[in-house]
Amino acid sequence: MKFIVPEPDPKNVCSLCSREVGKENLIEGQKANICFDSSDLAKEIADERRKEIAEKEIQQMAKDLSLANVNTEKGSFDISDTGMATAYMYAERLYKAGYRKVE
Ligand SMILES: [Zn+2]
Repeated sequence: MKFIVPEPDPKNVCSLCSREVGKENLIEGQKANICFDSSDLAKEIADERRKEIAEKEIQQMAKDLSLANVNTEKGSFDISDTGMATAYMYAERLYKAGYRKVE
């Protein structure tokens, strides 16, 4: 006699971790279903990647700024005179304010 394990219904299975968690614990997509735990993990990974991307952009903006001569109402000043740490501080503020470099 053979013991047969029934195939789980794909509608109850998470497409990412392959666990059978039931329809009510899945976020249904057109081609994939994701369980809440996998969704949380995906969010953590996405946040980490976003942080890395932001860090790269801020570094690049700081580099560009450190070469810039900025004109203000009070006259122009050279950020490069203030050093990379200051350029980074300005770049971070600009980034957080929503500024993005246009390619
Ligand atoms: Zn999952």
